[in-house]
Amino acid sequence: MKVTDHIKKANGETLFSFEIVPPVKGKNIQQLYDNIDPLMEFNPPFIDVTTSREEYVYIKKSGLLDKQITRMRPGTVGICASLKHKYNVDTVPHVLCGGFTKEETEYMLVDCQYLGIDNIMALRGDAMREEQYFTPTKGGHPYAASLVSQIQNLNTGKYLHDDTPMENNANFCIGVAGYPEKHLEAPSLQSDLKRLKEKVDAGADYVVTQMFFDNQKYFQFVEAAKEIGINVPIIPGIKPIAVKRHLQLLPQVFKIDLPQDLIDAVDGCENNKAVRQVGIEWAIQQSKELKEAGVPVLHYYSMGKSDNVYSIAKTLF
Ligand code: FAD
Repeated sequence: MKVTDHIKKANGETLFSFEIVPPVKGKNIQQLYDNIDPLMEFNPPFIDVTTSREEYVYIKKSGLLDKQITRMRPGTVGICASLKHKYNVDTVPHVLCGGFTKEETEYMLVDCQYLGIDNIMALRGDAMREEQYFTPTKGGHPYAASLVSQIQNLNTGKYLHDDTPMENNANFCIGVAGYPEKHLEAPSLQSDLKRLKEKVDAGADYVVTQMFFDNQKYFQFVEAAKEIGINVPIIPGIKPIAVKRHLQLLPQVFKIDLPQDLIDAVDGCENNKAVRQVGIEWAIQQSKELKEAGVPVLHYYSMGKSDNVYSIAKTLF
């Protein structure tokens, strides 16, 4: 079922959902299931599964180090199919522009269609760790809006090798990313919002936001989006702070602000166990206010261990 249909069916009730990251290849998937199992108590209608960018790794071959590009966390579509089967839940694979040709993307979408996956999160992806700027893959998409168009074409039966509409069953619900504090490369929030509108105009059905720690940023973003004609659901993404290092890391990587009260509370913690508790309490306060404001879904970035998301959900759902 589509994410937007789950929202309609909920009839104003706020839903719970979360995002998981595939294990590093070669690692056992059981750990992932062990983290998901407790969260199923809160009946998530859908679970997102991220896709990782490729990275350079050094492989030892015949005693020599060889530099190669690899994707360390593959398996997104396979995990989506597995979770759908195991938990009878809808899944949302993240599909990236970076690292994929349009042809490869089409194969992935066809796989999703055959697996009964109804939702796709369409993203550009970040620059590879070794690159300063995002470089489009040869034969791939430069921006998420163009990926959204490809998915939308498939929804109308237009394939890359033939754009005369053909008989097909693709009917993907398309999610895209939104940034209450603007995307780090965007010259201004207003220009980033226009880019978001382009994604919606290309066929995106809903938006999931980047993490934020001050709800006012989200509320203002939703208002500004409405003002320029973005009328699809905007789902807030919530990340509980889990370690002290997040104080530097999150603003540095995502160019987001942390409220001073949160910084002070984390700074005052003696160890990461205490930080994790502060993160839980902050996320609970954020979530309560968002729920009272009637957001369609509270979407949590779980990143590995899910005990903190469990504690938050337990008080709210
Ligand atoms: P876009 O919408 O393409 O925008 C990227 C930048 O380009 C923005 O600054 C925008 O303003 C600008 N722009 C857009 N169109 C144009 C244009 N025509 N001309 C000039 N500038 C333009 N990353 C992963 O690698 N894997 C994941 O699974 C993943 N999941 C995510 C989930 C969510 C909810 C969010 C919020 C982010 C996620 N990301 C993920 C990170 C995301 O890939 C990065 O933030 C990436 O840098 C931008 O992706 P986007 O889809 O927003 O890009």
